[in-house]
Amino acid sequence: MKVESVDAFYLRMPEVRDIGDGSQDALLIRVRAGGFTGWGECEASPLPTIAALVAPISHSACKPVLDSVLGANLDGPADIGAIHRRVKESSLDLLQADHALSGIDIALWDLVGKRQGTPVWSFFGSENHSRVAYASSLFGEDPADTYERARSIRNGLFRAAKFGWGPIGRGSLAEDIAHVGAAREGLGPDQVLLVDTGCIFGHDVPRALALAPVLEDNHVWWWEEPFATGALREYAELAAKTRIPLAGGEGCHSADQARHVIEYGRVSFIQIDTGRIGGISAAREVAEYAKERGVQYVNHTFTSPLALSASLQPYADDPNSLFAEVPYSPSELALLIGQELPINDEGQVTAPPGPGLGMNIETSPLSPYLQEVEIRVDGRVLWESRGFEA
Ligand SMILES: [Mg+2]
Repeated sequence: MKVESVDAFYLRMPEVRDIGDGSQDALLIRVRAGGFTGWGECEASPLPTIAALVAPISHSACKPVLDSVLGANLDGPADIGAIHRRVKESSLDLLQADHALSGIDIALWDLVGKRQGTPVWSFFGSENHSRVAYASSLFGEDPADTYERARSIRNGLFRAAKFGWGPIGRGSLAEDIAHVGAAREGLGPDQVLLVDTGCIFGHDVPRALALAPVLEDNHVWWWEEPFATGALREYAELAAKTRIPLAGGEGCHSADQARHVIEYGRVSFIQIDTGRIGGISAAREVAEYAKERGVQYVNHTFTSPLALSASLQPYADDPNSLFAEVPYSPSELALLIGQELPINDEGQVTAPPGPGLGMNIETSPLSPYLQEVEIRVDGRVLWESRGFEA
């Protein structure tokens, strides 16, 4: 069969706030081939990503992403690999191409899995391991708010939680001490606490190091993103100077970049967003490399159940990677994209057993969130939004 259509749907909450919550809008991708439909989601700013799909050729290594996908053969995983390589080559200099490719690649895997009546993870091995699901939350506006969030997580099925972004590292050390302490107190002494400092320390290792004793005192299991993804020298220096394992990698846009975070950044946990890195194909490369290097792979997911399912597939067969990120309070829009994955009595989550990504995408509840967009160049409409029924 051939790829017959690739459609993009830009969805947005009525109000998008200036907070570290990436679930406030979404770019859904629908691929059709041979009577089957696959769905994927780009973890990306929707408009530049739509532009990457259709932007006219700028030069031979800067072609629109759709040119490499439409009409391509799609009979199995090998064809997904061929499409992936063609996009990387033909859109080499188009920086948003990896984000656009991510949603397409995920949808291609979903479609191929559905066609063969098998979950995507089964293409990578026969095992589908359960992970410790950690509730992923932003820090509260003040320590009392952080405490309440931790308390409510503790009262649910989760046995692990991560707090990140928001005020951490933006005020005084005393405020950071209060926030991390509130998270620990709210969770109680027995739950796993993870902290994400959202790249706040830039390249400043001494400033980051001032936080280390606070994290140690509160028995934090990992310290996520002290620096931006590319600050590998700083990651390595900090890793040598603190006992807390470092986690990072959610900003990676390619498997190569993630390999470098492992190799030169010395992280103990590599965090990959399938909606950013180039889809399940690129994420799988990283999962295999991480296993080889004795580093734990963790999904990065802060959006929909569809994105969560996609992000659990690449490492389903790895028994040594213990954790999975589960968004704790995503937007109402994100919750409409697929079905929430159950957390079992042990606080674990598992990739769904159904064909493809095991998700049923109901489009009618999504329609009110569709944004009307038209991209017009020199009088010619390159792209315009359409409803789901088209
Ligand atoms: Mg993070």
